[in-house]
Amino acid sequence: SAKQKSINRYEFFNPVMDIEAFKKFSLEKDLRKAIEENHLEVYYQPRVCAKTGRILSAEALVRWNHSEWGMVAPADFIPLAEETGLIAPLSEWVERAVCSQLKSWQEQGISLVPISINVSAHRFLSKNFISTIKKTLEQTQLEGKWLEMEITETSILDNQELVDSTITEIKKLGIKISLDDFGTGYSSLAYLTRFKVDVLKIDKSFIRDVTINQANATVVKTIIHLAHGLGMRVVAEGVETKEQLTFVKQQNCDEVQGYLFSKPIVFEDFLRLLANRIITPVKGSPLMGFEN
Ligand code: C2E
Ligand code: MG
Ligand code: MG
Ligand code: MG
Repeated sequence: SAKQKSINRYEFFNPVMDIEAFKKFSLEKDLRKAIEENHLEVYYQPRVCAKTGRILSAEALVRWNHSEWGMVAPADFIPLAEETGLIAPLSEWVERAVCSQLKSWQEQGISLVPISINVSAHRFLSKNFISTIKKTLEQTQLEGKWLEMEITETSILDNQELVDSTITEIKKLGIKISLDDFGTGYSSLAYLTRFKVDVLKIDKSFIRDVTINQANATVVKTIIHLAHGLGMRVVAEGVETKEQLTFVKQQNCDEVQGYLFSKPIVFEDFLRLLANRIITPVKGSPLMGFEN
């Protein structure tokens, strides 16, 4: 067609475009292969009790072990996965990997902590999200209470009915819901009263200079207060210093996650870390299984 010809001509005369298009194409091919051939890995970053430092849970963070480039961070391939439709198989891979790792851990007699999984807006709003999760739980024989889903404000902006029913279904499975990167989205706060979110995760951009920037300190204090007022737990993300920890602790923040305690680490290292810390027996809800 004429359009096709003009595209070809444009690409032919524009080497920069051509290289960009090629790079994207080969990256997409590589990612597809990585999913099929298990070149992805799940890293775990502990979430600890702000008061005691006890490990309460962990966040699963995907990594791509690329044969030429080494470990690739999710920021470099999640957007591509979303653009190309690879986000579905990628998410399924992560969900399955986490569930089977949890199961094998349980079978070894190790006392579990819940693991949170990041769910992109695409994934959250896709038709077969719930059915795939159900299938994965069934096949791995894992109880939903060991999972938490981290969604962002963009996931719950539109299509209120779909959001409502998806959240209800997730809850039915015993899975908890957290709002990730809280405070960076554009939505109104009305949804906090509408949807039953269990956990608010304060975005690390607010934590970064919480001890030197009065405005950020106010935002963090207010988010903690808001969350507690609505009966939610609060996690401070990106805690790197003792000063930041002291601040959020003084504000009664429940949990912290950040390099101060641990970077995201491989499963075996996470298990070692768990073994070195006192973890009280889980009573009832796994997230509530500790005393303050
Ligand atoms: P996120 O869910 O907000 O995850 C927290 C990010 O902050 C992680 O980056 C983590 O390594 C980093 N982080 C943790 N503590 C600190 C700290 O003290 N300082 C600093 N500077 N950074 C810290 P990571 O692993 O590169 O992941 C980036 C984002 O990619 C995640 O942000 C999440 O939105 C997305 N992502 C990661 N894994 C998955 C996945 O399996 N599926 C989907 N859909 N998205 C994922
Ligand atoms: Mg997250
Ligand atoms: Mg976050
Ligand atoms: Mg994020």
